[in-house]
This record gives sequence, C-alpha cells and structure tokens, in this order.
Amino acid sequence: MTKVAVVTGSTSGIGLAIAEAFAELGHTVVVNSFSDTEADHAVAKAIAEKTGAKAVYRKADMSRPDECRDLIAWTAKEIGAVDILVNNAGIQHVAPVDEFPVEQWDRIIAINLTSAFHTTAAALPHMKAAGWGRIVNIASAHGLRASPNKSAYVAAKHGVVGLTKTVALETARLGITCNAVCPGFVLTPLVETQIGDRAKELGLDRETTIRDVILEKQPSKKFASVDEIAAATLYLVSDGAASVTGTTISVDGGWTAQ
Ligand code: NAD
Repeated sequence: MTKVAVVTGSTSGIGLAIAEAFAELGHTVVVNSFSDTEADHAVAKAIAEKTGAKAVYRKADMSRPDECRDLIAWTAKEIGAVDILVNNAGIQHVAPVDEFPVEQWDRIIAINLTSAFHTTAAALPHMKAAGWGRIVNIASAHGLRASPNKSAYVAAKHGVVGLTKTVALETARLGITCNAVCPGFVLTPLVETQIGDRAKELGLDRETTIRDVILEKQPSKKFASVDEIAAATLYLVSDGAASVTGTTISVDGGWTAQ
C-alpha cells in the first residue's frame, strides 16, 4: 500500500536519494529544505515527473521548533497522513572544542538533533491513530564513534541514536518502528566542503586528501553511495523489518567494526 513519507533536508544528497527511492515505490513524498527557492520546488516536480508518484515541496527550517512541527501538521492536513518520517537534515562544522563557535554548536544541535525530537513528537499521534508508522533517523558513524574537532556533530548524532532507542521503546507495541541509519562518509555537498577545506589546510591534492584524510577511518577506502543509504532506509520501512526497532544499521565500509 502506498504511504505518505516526509523526508527532512531532501533537496540534496542523501535525503534526495531517499525521497526518490520512496517515490519509485509509489509513496507520496514531502520534500523539504529551509530555503523555499524555485530550485527547491523543481526538485519535487522532477521526482514526480520521473516516478509518477506525488511529490510536493514544503519549506521548514529545521533549526526552528515551530517550523519542524508545522511540517508535520501541514502534511497531515494537506496530504492526509504521516506514515513515514525520515529525519535527515543535517549540517557540519569542524573546530576544536575550545575554539568551537557557540552559534555553530547551537545550530548543529538544533538541526541535527532537536529537529528530530520535534518532528517525531508531532508525527507520533498520527502514526498511533493509524496503528502503523516508520521513523528512520539518518545518524552517522559519528553517532557510534567520535572524531576530533567534531564535538557538536558527534554529540548530536550520539543524541539521535539515544532518541531512536527511546522512541522505539515507547512505540514497541503500537505498530511503529524507530531506527537509525549510520552512514560512513558519503560523497555529498556536505562532504565536498570538508574535502576542499582539508586539502587547503594540509596542502594536499584532492585524491590524496580523500584517501588518506577523509577516508582514513573507512576501511573500504570507498565512499558509501547515497543509493546505499536509501536502500537501508527502504529496508527499515519495509514489512520485512516490522520487528526491527530501536537499532542502528551501519553503512560505513567497516568503520565501526574497528
Ligand atoms: P547535504 O548537505 O547534501 O544535504 C543536506 C540537506 O539538508 C539539504 O537538502 C539542505 O537543504 C538541508 N538542510 C540544511 N539545513 C537545513 C535546515 N535548517 N532546515 C531544513 N533543511 C536543511 O548533506 P548530506 O551529506 O546528504 O547529509 C544528510 C544527512 O546525512 C545529515 O544528517 C548528515 O549528517 C548525514 N550524514 C552524512 C554523511 C556524509 O558523508 N555525507 C555521513 C553520515 C551522516
């Protein structure tokens, strides 16, 4: 049966691949970002044209609690249901703890962690009423392991894994599951910025920076693909994963096996 899926931060990278994968299955998709540009609306239009499924864009800034909750309320009212919620929106900033800008810390915690609390809190009453729901949080290998200079990101992603487990326990008898996907490095605009910054800082070429610096902890020495993250998400949403709840799936080329 087709469902209604909300994917936060889905005009780019991993979120876009997940939105497209849902639409390929015929699910209605709410595409989201904070910017509300023509290009944002064009992303939803392109998904609809490519797949024949319904895809609509809705602006909501995940750094703002009211807009997180409005995204869910709007979807329930205008589309008629909120069956699947993927908390994907995320940003990064890299600096040592004692130099970490306070506003960047607050922004990362708000977008990468607190937004998932607000969307989940708003979505659960709809899922409970339907007796069915799927929540997938896009965490990170950094939800399970730390790296230097990423204090806010690591704290937020560990928090997402904790939130995932708690929501799973609270909904275990209700036909609702809540899980996290933990990607290693995936080549998206978020990581492109890090490659450029690190190459400049260390005076290395792009290829060496990717192999020796960015993928230092990823034993496969290959980026995971956005489609691989979407495939893990589709599994968690599938009927076959009905008893999978409160856990993490790593898609990280072996990073967290270490
Ligand atoms: P990306 O930069 O390609 O996409 C991020 C998306 O989030 C964009 O659509 C952007 O518009 C949206 N976004 C940013 N700020 C927002 C806000 N305030 N409100 C609403 N939307 C906002 O990033 P990505 O690499 O695809 O990352 C997606 C998720 O995957 C993030 O949570 C990230 O932490 C996680 N992740 C990425 C990697 C990686 O290597 N790329 C690894 C592990 C986890």
